[in-house]
Amino acid sequence: MATYKGRCFCGAVEFNVTGDPVAMGYCHCESCRSWSAAPVNAFTLWKPDAVKITRGAELVGGFNKTPKSSRKWCKTCGGHIFTEHPLWGVTDVYAASIPELPYRAGLHVNYQETKLRIKDGLPKMKDMPAEMGGSGVTLEE
Ligand SMILES: [Zn+2]
Ligand SMILES: [Zn+2]
Repeated sequence: MATYKGRCFCGAVEFNVTGDPVAMGYCHCESCRSWSAAPVNAFTLWKPDAVKITRGAELVGGFNKTPKSSRKWCKTCGGHIFTEHPLWGVTDVYAASIPELPYRAGLHVNYQETKLRIKDGLPKMKDMPAEMGGSGVTLEE
């Protein structure tokens, strides 16, 4: 299985992801935009045990605004690392923090909240896929 190295903005925190992500795509929700300070978040979802911190674990800070998301960042540089979603049993590793992973988005989620329409031909989920508790409804690009 392939292993890809990830790191925070300054490099004090390093981690590995191993195997294949469960899903990859773009999230347009308000929480992702606010947390990432960006118009859209490129996510890669992994089983929690596929993600291992290999350096600087003592520098990892955490914040839970809701029980759905446990956000992790580097206390030295403030760079974001990943977000654990315990209710869904996945960890969202930001695509930008694992640059060697061949990133191939499969869908857009929470497109009803978009601030940046993207016409790439991929499915645009109104909220979330039905198997993750969403409506499963798709929207026009
Ligand atoms: Zn850092
Ligand atoms: Zn989101």
